[in-house]
Amino acid sequence: MKLTHDHEQIRDTLKRYIAEKINPHVDEWEAAEIFPAHQVFKGLGDLGLLGLTKPVEYGGMGLDYSYSMLMAETMGLVNCGAIPMAVGVQTDMCTPALARFGSDALKREFLAPAIAGDMVGCIGVSEPGAGSDVAGITSRARRDGDDYVITGQKMWITNSLQADWMCMLVNTGEGPMHKNKSLIIVPMRDGPNGHLTKGITVAQKIRKIGMNASDTGLIYFDEVRVPARNLIGQEGQGFIYQMQQFQEERLWAAANAITGLDVAIRETIAYTRQRQMFGSTLLDQQWVQFKLVELQTEVEALRALTWTACERYVAGEDVLQWASMAKLKAGRLTREVADTCLQFWGGMGFTWDNRVSRLYRDGRLGSIGGGADEVMMGIIAKTMGMAKRSAA
Ligand SMILES: Cc1cc2nc3c(=O)[nH]c(=O)nc-3n(C[C@H](O)[C@H](O)[C@H](O)COP(=O)(O)OP(=O)(O)OC[C@H]3O[C@@H](n4cnc5c(N)ncnc54)[C@H](O)[C@@H]3O)c2cc1C
Repeated sequence: MKLTHDHEQIRDTLKRYIAEKINPHVDEWEAAEIFPAHQVFKGLGDLGLLGLTKPVEYGGMGLDYSYSMLMAETMGLVNCGAIPMAVGVQTDMCTPALARFGSDALKREFLAPAIAGDMVGCIGVSEPGAGSDVAGITSRARRDGDDYVITGQKMWITNSLQADWMCMLVNTGEGPMHKNKSLIIVPMRDGPNGHLTKGITVAQKIRKIGMNASDTGLIYFDEVRVPARNLIGQEGQGFIYQMQQFQEERLWAAANAITGLDVAIRETIAYTRQRQMFGSTLLDQQWVQFKLVELQTEVEALRALTWTACERYVAGEDVLQWASMAKLKAGRLTREVADTCLQFWGGMGFTWDNRVSRLYRDGRLGSIGGGADEVMMGIIAKTMGMAKRSAA
């Protein structure tokens, strides 16, 4: 895909923001196991970076999806995975369905402030009993006059402690599992940084092996009253909307992985070049050179696959297969690159604050979150005609 002057300007603006406002604080935020989402998002919002592909009427830039991909790729320059993930949730995971199917009033109330960086959003799909099997969620919204009343649990929610609203997938009917769900915007607080909405409890902040600066939580909903006008699009279409929303999440995940892999390989070359052993440097070992060559070749293949998927998406094609392949490849390659590079760093690779060991821990999520590798393979098998498609 050919990048224009506009792409390059946006990339330079984001690079500067990362270098000046994010990277100097990453170690502190990783240690604190949370980062100030409102502060970081406001800075990105002021630069117009949270609404690149969103409609101009709501403060977005109305650009095509290649700009979002470029942003995802550039966010790989952040010295951890947690902050890019939280930003990706805001730009490409909890807002696509709202932007595409939400009413004008709903977009003014929730999308516009998310684009401005005044509100933090989150996406509530996974539950303690249903992650890969999205159709198996049990959270429910029943209609009561002009409201929905929501009861259930959402688990693994990124931005749990700081989100102002959730784009929540819930059951709203009794019919077939793919036609009984809806996406509803649930206000989490009574104002930015305000008290939690009545009936909502953040039951647990989950400790993790990686993505430490991200506040991941388990959230309970007990008879939470939400205006019925907060429904996105049509009742019963939520599963379909979420499957479409996943396309952007998966393209984003693949693009975001690429730069971190480039950096890990580059830093490993630099380290092994100065590491003396057996009368020369570690990089003088042809085994080390060849492994790094193989990995960089794989990274270029991932880049080509991901940008081809993007090009097709921008052209209006159904990219279910391409996005799933890119996400699958990104998850697997991240594990391979992180593990191989860590090995070449020896004991230094086993230390906590090393960039490669952070990639090893943070990057492991790539094969699990947003649809595990096996879920991607199941989708690809269907698109290749090997497995049955659901009736949805
Ligand atoms: C740090 C973090 C942040 C997250 N953020 C969010 C968020 O913001 N919002 C949200 O809704 N969710 C979020 N998630 C949840 C994430 O999307 C789920 O963890 C993921 O979908 C897997 O679901 P699960 O954990 O329930 O695993 P399970 O569904 O129990 O799956 C376990 C394993 O089973 C295997 N498997 C799955 N399907 C098949 C198959 N067909 N054949 C063979 N094996 C299979 C896979 O290896 C999978 O890893 C997050 C998770 C983490 C860890």
